[in-house]
Amino acid sequence: MTTCREALDLILDSVAPLPPRATTLFDALGLVLADRLGSPETVPPFTNSAMDGYAVRAEDCAGAGSDTSVSLDVLSDLPAGSVATEAVRPGTAIRIMTGAPIPAGADSVVPVEATTSEGSRVRIAAPVKRGANVRLAGEDLREGEELLPKGFVLNPASLGILASVGLSEVPVHPRARVAILTTGDELVAAGDKPGPGQIRDSNIHTMCAQALAFGAVPVPISRVPDTREAVTAALSRARNTADVIVTNGGISVGDYDFIKAVLADLGAREVFWKVKQKPGGPLGFWLLDGKPVFGIPGNTVAAMVCMEEYVRPALRKLMGHANLLRPEATAVFEGSFRKTVQDGKVHLVRVRARRENGRLVVAPSGPQGSGILSSMLRSNALALVPADALALKTGDEVRVHLVEEPEDH
Ligand code: AMP
Ligand code: MG
Repeated sequence: MTTCREALDLILDSVAPLPPRATTLFDALGLVLADRLGSPETVPPFTNSAMDGYAVRAEDCAGAGSDTSVSLDVLSDLPAGSVATEAVRPGTAIRIMTGAPIPAGADSVVPVEATTSEGSRVRIAAPVKRGANVRLAGEDLREGEELLPKGFVLNPASLGILASVGLSEVPVHPRARVAILTTGDELVAAGDKPGPGQIRDSNIHTMCAQALAFGAVPVPISRVPDTREAVTAALSRARNTADVIVTNGGISVGDYDFIKAVLADLGAREVFWKVKQKPGGPLGFWLLDGKPVFGIPGNTVAAMVCMEEYVRPALRKLMGHANLLRPEATAVFEGSFRKTVQDGKVHLVRVRARRENGRLVVAPSGPQGSGILSSMLRSNALALVPADALALKTGDEVRVHLVEEPEDH
């Protein structure tokens, strides 16, 4: 059987970043730049006012003080988006709004709060420093300067910077499209009433939501019946529409577990099946026409844990990320955890992590059965109980994967 580490390595060795694509800024948040970008323009493009006030010559206001004010002739009004048609001459000023280009002749802006308007004149009662409240052309970015390095993960500020220099489309690795197939004759949609022996399909929602949260595009293929024909049709559809396929359920050794057989019929190459872990032991991984296929067991927690630990890193590699894994840390365990038998598997325990006196402390977030989704609700980390350990008690050190920042829940 494959270890967790081997499984992850085998998966990551099988996937490569998707070819870059020009993408509009509205669609680019969180995507990874496929090229270094230099600035084609200067920012700000022209010298402009940082305040609403009066564009003046500092020299004219040199004598102004609390008891010796200066009066200047106001030539015109200059809103943002307009350019002055005349220059500021000695003894004059132009009323100017934030962002409007500094008129010729002026070198400073006196904020409106430091002035008194007197008809067509303005009174200034404080000295003005030359260059005050003026934003110089190019003070933010110079033409040709590196804006963003290759591999940069686009954040809101970077999107604004790209827009400011006229780059309305950027070369990025696209979001991976991930087909998510839930399977099982027992499943009904969340909005339907289950008949005898039936349950609602909750995994289609957890798994699609996880894919979205990972920055990918989920393609839901919900509630595929447990027949060879239905599984074949669903996998064929997934193969044509997605970069990654995730099947859920039907991967164990039950009589109605058709995923493996159908993948073999379709010519998929098995990379591994079964991992020394709990939950998610029956996890399998195949390549179908080179496309990654994850076969994930149906238990609700197993589904989420496998998405987190294996599908997420693969999606991130496809989308060009350099950092594929969640932060890992050593924490102090609080509470008790015991494997029912020494099974030689790594157990991924749902825990809630918190900082306490500079240490990271983790406590189980509820019962650990692989179908108990409620204990996933307030879990923000997975603690890794090593294969050779049997139990954890308060005070033990444990490695954890930090799945979520703790401030939200
Ligand atoms: P399987 O891996 O198909 O043997 O399913 C294992 C367990 O997970 C069974 O109890 C299933 O009913 C349950 N299960 C499978 N698929 C889903 C799903 N989409 N939503 C909720 N539970 C599921
Ligand atoms: Mg099933």
